[in-house]
Amino acid sequence: MAVPQNRVTRSRRNMRRAHDALSAANPNECPNCGELKRPHHVCGACGHYNDREVVAQTAEIDLDEDAA
Ligand SMILES: [Zn+2]
Repeated sequence: MAVPQNRVTRSRRNMRRAHDALSAANPNECPNCGELKRPHHVCGACGHYNDREVVAQTAEIDLDEDAA
């Protein structure tokens, strides 16, 4: 098993991690429902892309109905 030859100090470790931050997403508004969505992605709220429905949205499923 590989073993580190030298201890990495807190300072050096943190300097390495200085570049690890995630950049914020750049959402834009869905032209159909106005919900924020990722660019070039189907809207998660209404399933529309380029002003047409590409993912059919089903009515909300009542889970209690199955249990009874
Ligand atoms: Zn939408």
